[in-house]
Amino acid sequence: MNQPAVESIVDGAAVSRSLEAARPPDDARLQDLLDKARACAGLERDEVAELMLVEQPAQTEALFAAAAEVKQRIYGNRVVLFAPLYVSNECVGNCLYCAFRVSNRELRRKTLTPDEISQEVRWLIDHGYKRLLLVFGDHPKNSVEHMIEAVEAVYATHEGPGEIRRVNVNAAPLSYEDFCRLKPAGIGTFQVFQETYHRPTYERAHGMGPKADYQWRLTVWDRCIPAGIDDTGLGVLYGLYDWRWDTLALLEHAAYLDRTYGVGPHTISVPRIEPAFMAPWGKTPPAPVSDDQFRRIIAIIRLAVPYTGMILSTRETPEMRRECLRLGISQISAGSRTSPGGYSEIDKDEFEEAQFQVGDHRSLDEIMRDLCHLGYLPSFCTACYRSGRTGQDFMELAKPGTIHHFCLPNALLTFKEYLLDYASPETRAVGELVIQHHLELIEGENLRRQTEAKLRELEAGERDLYY
Ligand code: SAM
Repeated sequence: MNQPAVESIVDGAAVSRSLEAARPPDDARLQDLLDKARACAGLERDEVAELMLVEQPAQTEALFAAAAEVKQRIYGNRVVLFAPLYVSNECVGNCLYCAFRVSNRELRRKTLTPDEISQEVRWLIDHGYKRLLLVFGDHPKNSVEHMIEAVEAVYATHEGPGEIRRVNVNAAPLSYEDFCRLKPAGIGTFQVFQETYHRPTYERAHGMGPKADYQWRLTVWDRCIPAGIDDTGLGVLYGLYDWRWDTLALLEHAAYLDRTYGVGPHTISVPRIEPAFMAPWGKTPPAPVSDDQFRRIIAIIRLAVPYTGMILSTRETPEMRRECLRLGISQISAGSRTSPGGYSEIDKDEFEEAQFQVGDHRSLDEIMRDLCHLGYLPSFCTACYRSGRTGQDFMELAKPGTIHHFCLPNALLTFKEYLLDYASPETRAVGELVIQHHLELIEGENLRRQTEAKLRELEAGERDLYY
């Protein structure tokens, strides 16, 4: 399979030209840009470059308010929750920012067996999770066969009334043939973060191993989508290179996918570099991103690609996560452990084996409760993926708002299951109020009645009801 040329995917020179030509918008121009963004039709590269120069407090507030409005229109109060499951910290890469780097000889290496994966999954099910992200280091042990085995082990594990209903994967890019083999295992999104689109910085950060090949990483979706896995997860690791340049390049990548395959990325992740054991760039990133810049990144991505899910992990603190939910984040991880075996404590020395330090240490239940107090509706919905509404089919329904009709009922049904089976009494009390409030927001008398009936069925012991 021929790899497309790098410049046909992300034209770095064009990104630089847009940034050089951009001028801070005056109030009238900003109003025009935000009006266009509020129509949820996205923004052009030059327009995004202008928004990146907004600095004045009143203009920044207007930018944030527009992002919050778009977020609310498309996602309402729903927030999707998941946990990462680190399957392996074995890695032949030597990323300067990551504790899993091969030159970190202090780290104890571990790749979970299918039995150990089941043990972790039982713990996760027992705490109420329904959606997982399997994370793999880049190592021959993490072959596609092992990935398939891992995905199958997750789906085969049942515990009490629960099971995992959607498995996403974060791993090194695969070949087209390997993506074809992975597809029948039934994964949701395949995530590969480009880390930085700026090639010289990329090459400095990833000196050896397969990850040193910038083009192989950049062309991952040109093998993944043709193999039939069309829910793709993009990301930049913020702190490696100038945030404006990398964000613009990321959006170029998203536009390329839309143009070439008729479907943009399913999700965009915005990890920011955290300190990591024995990783020099973890402590001193070359281009640190401040909290203020980070908020802008989220708001701008939300305005530029309104229909793309945005993921924020536990790298960030609870305060920052609360703010970012308003500005555009639609999915968060919760209660994460970033070492293989970290949940069921197969090995006790969690800190030493963790990939990086996390900023939010709260449990899933505490986070669910906090979301309720803030007026959000936690969701474990997996209906689209399980009904085959992925990739282009998903976008065709998402853009005119057709599936949103069912998103709210599905969120309510999955949250209700959590309250019945796993919640603490405090979370259950506030959660029931959230359900009552959101039931009234369902448009259409019939759908509301049907949803109320399904909620009663859940109370009577039925499970896994969705539209
Ligand atoms: N081996 C896979 C690959 O090649 O993409 C998975 C990489 S890693 C386990 C998942 C992601 O964690 C990376 O893509 C990177 O963006 C992020 N990451 C690595 N080190 C980090 C750090 N110190 N702070 C925050 N995020 C980090």
